[in-house]
Parts: sequence; C-alpha cells; structure tokens
Amino acid sequence: MSGARNTLNRPTSRMGAADRTSAVASSFVVADAGHCIGCKACELACFAVHSQANGIGASVGTVSVPVVPKVYVVRAGDTYVPVQCRHCENAPCAHACPVQAIRQENGVVMIDEELCIGCTSCVLACPFGAIEVSTVYREGRAMTQPGLTDRAAHKPLPRTAAGKCDLCADTNGGQPACVEACPNDVLRLAIVESDLLPERRREVFFPRL
Ligand code: SF4
Ligand code: SF4
Repeated sequence: MSGARNTLNRPTSRMGAADRTSAVASSFVVADAGHCIGCKACELACFAVHSQANGIGASVGTVSVPVVPKVYVVRAGDTYVPVQCRHCENAPCAHACPVQAIRQENGVVMIDEELCIGCTSCVLACPFGAIEVSTVYREGRAMTQPGLTDRAAHKPLPRTAAGKCDLCADTNGGQPACVEACPNDVLRLAIVESDLLPERRREVFFPRL
C-alpha cells in the first residue's frame, strides 16, 4: 500500500523527525461505527491511562475522582459512535486558544494543561465536540485556582483545564488505550502520510467496507 499504514508507527512527542521514515500529515483514531456495541470500554480505558496522577488502578475501588475520558461514545438511534479528536491539520481549537496552550507536534495536536486557562474557546471552535473543560485533579484532590473564590460557598474555585485525545502520547508506547480495549475491533489508529493518495483513504479509514 502506497503511503498508508494503520499499524503502530505513530509519531509521539518523544519522537524526533529523524525517527520517522515518511512525512506524517496527521494521525488519529478512527471508529467503525457500525460495529460499536456501546460498551464504553474505550472510555474507561482512556480514563484509566490518563489518570495515573490520581492513582487510578485496574479495580473499581481505586476510582475516587469523576470519570472524564477523552473519547465519548455517542448514541444516534440504534447506532453507537465513539467520538474523539481528529488531530486536524489546521486545528481550529489551536487557532481559537488565546494563550497558545494547543500545539501540533509531529502530527499530534496536544493541549498543555499547565498553560490552559479554562476559557472554553477551543470547545466552541472544535467541529467534533472532542474537547471537554473539566476540573483538574491531582492525587485524588481537586486543584484550586489561587485567588479565585466561590463567594457564596466561601470556598476556592476549582482549577479547570481543557482535555482531549492525545493518542496516549505520554504512555509507554503501544496502541492508544481505547484501541487496545475495544472488544469488537471498532477503533484503529490511522496514520495519514503526506503522500497518501485520495483513492487509498477509504482503505485506510474504513477497511471493513
Ligand atoms: S480538538 Fe477538535 S478542532 Fe482540535 S484538533 Fe481535535 S478535532 Fe480538530
Ligand atoms: S480552554 Fe484552555 S486550551 Fe482551550 S482555548 Fe482556553 S486556554 Fe486554550
């Protein structure tokens, strides 16, 4: 197949340009919606792998913070569709961010949680509804915003930040957690290289068709 792979060889924030054998335009997880059974195993796997700072383990008893995944299973009639970031080449979310908290590294669009001010501009800009702004938890505790107070409750306001699919770039290699967890092989990592021919795209994105 010319210029198209859907196996692991994805760019990550740890890879330099010299590590890549071909120019990657973008990579993202695609869903074969007709085969999704709505079990949400992808959501739970995503949440677990991104919640290590909160000590989330493999058992139910370890979950002490709200479950906020970066992939969302949406129901449309009798069809279930996992929705997540498409890592757009001209990402509207990055253009909308007033503090440059969103950037593209080797084809992966990343959000820097430390820079994010929780303004939700990216949420409004994303055409896929792939971003959620939620409270930041560390070691099971909600972070707070220094100097900001809920005056009625006399409590500090929680610190919020935007979050979305990062292709598990900070994990220890392998496929994204959602891809590995899906019991029905609905999800795949598609890598789109710059020389991918238009007639090959369906083969990369929807091999079961
Ligand atoms: S969050 Fe939305 S706009 Fe930003 S890269 Fe992902 S799909 Fe595109
Ligand atoms: S919520 Fe954060 S990442 Fe999104 S636009 Fe605002 S500052 Fe940027």
